[in-house]
Amino acid sequence: GFEPERRGSHPYLGVDFRTLHSRAESAGTIPARRIQRLFSFQRHLLSSRLLRGAPHLNPLHILDEDYCGQAKCMLEKVGSWNFDIFLFDRLTNGNGLVFLTFNLLNQYGLIELFQLDMVKLRRFLVLVQEDYHNQNPYHNAVHAADVTQAMHCYLREPKLAESLTSFDILLGLLAAATHDLDHPGVNQPFLIKTNHYLAALYRNTSVLENHHWRSAVGLLRETELFSNLPAEDSIERQLGSLILATDISRQNEYLSRFRTHLDENDLCLGNASHRHFVLQMALKCADICNPCRPWELSKQWSEKVTEEFFHQGDIEKKHKLEISPLCDSEANTIASVQIGFMTYVVEPLFAEWARFSDTRLSQTMLGHLGLNKASWSAMEALYKSHNNDKQTLTDTQALKQCQN
Ligand SMILES: [Zn+2]
Repeated sequence: GFEPERRGSHPYLGVDFRTLHSRAESAGTIPARRIQRLFSFQRHLLSSRLLRGAPHLNPLHILDEDYCGQAKCMLEKVGSWNFDIFLFDRLTNGNGLVFLTFNLLNQYGLIELFQLDMVKLRRFLVLVQEDYHNQNPYHNAVHAADVTQAMHCYLREPKLAESLTSFDILLGLLAAATHDLDHPGVNQPFLIKTNHYLAALYRNTSVLENHHWRSAVGLLRETELFSNLPAEDSIERQLGSLILATDISRQNEYLSRFRTHLDENDLCLGNASHRHFVLQMALKCADICNPCRPWELSKQWSEKVTEEFFHQGDIEKKHKLEISPLCDSEANTIASVQIGFMTYVVEPLFAEWARFSDTRLSQTMLGHLGLNKASWSAMEALYKSHNNDKQTLTDTQALKQCQN
């Protein structure tokens, strides 16, 4: 069997990270989680036809028969910007990340090309999915699957599709799937002020991103997924460079480099280091593309991320720590958090991305971004006017009024 919980970002302040976001009914989840891990993996082992020595079978055969048709149908449109990852995750019984990533690697012909061992690959993907904390409202395996799906959309954009190598695509998809691995559901400043061992280990610099990367490397080595490939250490390094680029506090650094390249029109995608830089930018876009999705999807992500922020704020209050920006539920609303995020982080990045890749997808994303921002602004205005009337209005009520 597996050694349970042999890695992890959990302990801090004597409080177990695993219980941070657990609901009452799932409190004390340690034994349950162990069972779940064993159960889900064994279930896949038993149900997988791939393991009966038929590596060229359609990987979807491993889905439960009941949902097979619907999930399969969805995967036919896996390159669509409207892809509903929440629905896909439900249809795959919470295994969206495994099935999506497996399907994409297969679709790009990467399993065959790099002669990836099916058993090792499945074990790797299941472990990746299991090491995301499904108690986190936002930073969980569904977010990782969503980022992987967005990455796939960007990899198919003409400029990238024409120039990327199969190795670039393999790295891009793996980085997307693992980029938030073992995320504790709190941010770096929180880890620093609570003297978490990860903050000390990574010297308060890109603490989470370093941990996501090293966790991914740990799983690659444990499963020996790339043991047959010659440049195993180079894969690990490049994976790290992609995941570290998702550190939002370094956004300006990447953005100004991107802007300079675009101004001077000197990106040469025949050059491996330029391709790597474009992959970094694509992953950054994929990571924060929620506000560029259609409203029904975008709204759900906004609610989840704010729930996670406010939860951190509640822990900070409880432990009498300074409350982090955006995390105080009394000083912020979903709408105000979203408007700030869109204005200062998302819009500048996607404006440059659209200059680089001037396509229908880029225009679609900017279109949704504008509409979604207008919706949140309308809600915020309504919220403020109600507050002025000394009435309280929840975000949900405001949302309903706006939609009516
Ligand atoms: Zn992320």
